[in-house]
Amino acid sequence: MSIVSKPKSDPSSGSSNTKHPHAPARLDLRAAIGGGIFEYAPAPESVRPEIRDKYGLFIGGEFVDPESGGFFPTINPATEDTLSMVGEASASDVDRAVRAAREALPAWAGLSGKDRGKHLYRIARRMQERARELAVLETLDGGKPIKESRDLDIPLAAAHFFYHAGWADKLRFALPGRDPKPIGVCGQIIPWNFPLLMLSWKIAPALACGNTVVLKPAETTSLTALRFAQICQEVGLPRGVVNIITGAGETGRAIVEHTDIDKVAFTGSTSVGKAIAKAVAPTQKKLTLELGGKGANIIFEDASLDQAIEGIIEGIYFNQGHVCCAGSRLFVQESILDRVVDKLTDRMSTLRVGDPMDKNTDVGAINSKEQLATIEQYLATGEDEGAMRHDVCQSTLPGKGFWCKPCFYTGVQPSHTIAREEIFGPVLAVLSFRTPEEAISRANNSPYGLAAGVWTDKGSKIFDVAKRLDAGIVWLNSYNKFDPTSPFGGYKESGFGREGGRHGLMAYCK
Ligand code: NDP
Repeated sequence: MSIVSKPKSDPSSGSSNTKHPHAPARLDLRAAIGGGIFEYAPAPESVRPEIRDKYGLFIGGEFVDPESGGFFPTINPATEDTLSMVGEASASDVDRAVRAAREALPAWAGLSGKDRGKHLYRIARRMQERARELAVLETLDGGKPIKESRDLDIPLAAAHFFYHAGWADKLRFALPGRDPKPIGVCGQIIPWNFPLLMLSWKIAPALACGNTVVLKPAETTSLTALRFAQICQEVGLPRGVVNIITGAGETGRAIVEHTDIDKVAFTGSTSVGKAIAKAVAPTQKKLTLELGGKGANIIFEDASLDQAIEGIIEGIYFNQGHVCCAGSRLFVQESILDRVVDKLTDRMSTLRVGDPMDKNTDVGAINSKEQLATIEQYLATGEDEGAMRHDVCQSTLPGKGFWCKPCFYTGVQPSHTIAREEIFGPVLAVLSFRTPEEAISRANNSPYGLAAGVWTDKGSKIFDVAKRLDAGIVWLNSYNKFDPTSPFGGYKESGFGREGGRHGLMAYCK
């Protein structure tokens, strides 16, 4: 059943019977937004970066056509317009890229850490200089709101290069008691949810430690990786140190199976991660996997509720919910469940869904038609299994493109599909608990172990709960905060290995 919640009185705001006769009438937020009182004027991003009609593969420092001559379109998911044609790399193209990376390895690994650091600083500064262009490209190609790509993806991507530039000549201090050496040629495969940021998480530590790389972006979001390849040219990075090859899953498989790759680093779905683990198991290759998640965001009755509501929104509706560490399972202490649902309904009615290039947009387009179909299937399953869907978002969706209004479900049982599987969309499952013990056991009842959030006023409760959660990342009175100094990674079916911080460097050193 799909419902729109009715406004309830908030016990904390006092009864209307006791209101002062001259007090101003309380604004009904939902009615105000529905009636258009708070409608913003459009604020479109005006920059239009140059996008070539066609991009080859970036191998050995230059763009070359794929040997098969095949190209595929990359589209804007908000308009369904084709943005460019991108090369489809075959196994022989992968081989060319691996050979270029192998040739470049001795000179790159032989550079002093200080000189490698200089190259990384140059890349970071160039990314900052071109930040607006990169943000627009990311939004056009992936569908995320411009304010997110502008304020999070691109600054954080540059920050990863700055951070790792700093470590390049200090690896012995980062990993005390060792004599760190590069692993060699790294094959890196990244997903479509944070294209340039995931590229930075992978390339920056690899280069800082003296490795060379062959990286494949996701099929639907290749443009910022290709612009990054141009940045490598612009800053004079030695040829072959970074190779970017585009293509679909088969291209990724060819990287994993190539016999001259020393390490595979993968971020993506658990099912592909498992297949990669099987392929790599009989070889000498090193492997790190950053896979899916079903994060638990736990709200205790003593939490600061207005802050927690912002944390819930940030946790699940940021980046259309295409976030592996999303707080997609909300656990609320039973005594405050009604208040949280009511406040969440109010807050969600203010979310603006629509044109990702508008600076006021909160939730952009779903990344692809396929992902939208997956999300819609989960929405139907949620209702079939008896949960109650709350559609409270008031935006009118554009006529073209791939869109899903943010929503949440109540009446969810831990056994429901929407409480167990990664939806990777703006869909929240709300569950309740009575005691901290119950919160912990319900949160840990998942095959995943990537991220969690805990909201409470009590410091001792925070530390007690946080250390008992099976999650690689636990945010305390916050959610989805990222920093290059902080290691990121999971347990259980969320993968192994860490990216970021000193721990992330270990994954790229012998
Ligand atoms: P995939 O795991 O299929 O894709 C991730 C990357 O791996 C892409 O670059 C993809 O290429 C590549 N790839 C696909 N198949 C293979 C293979 N056999 N060998 C090597 N590389 C391969 O994720 P999807 O894009 O299909 O998304 C499906 C689901 O995965 C989502 O609904 C979500 O639940 C989850 N997901 C989780 C992410 C995370 O950050 N943990 C990120 C993305 C997805 P290509 O894109 O060209 O197919």
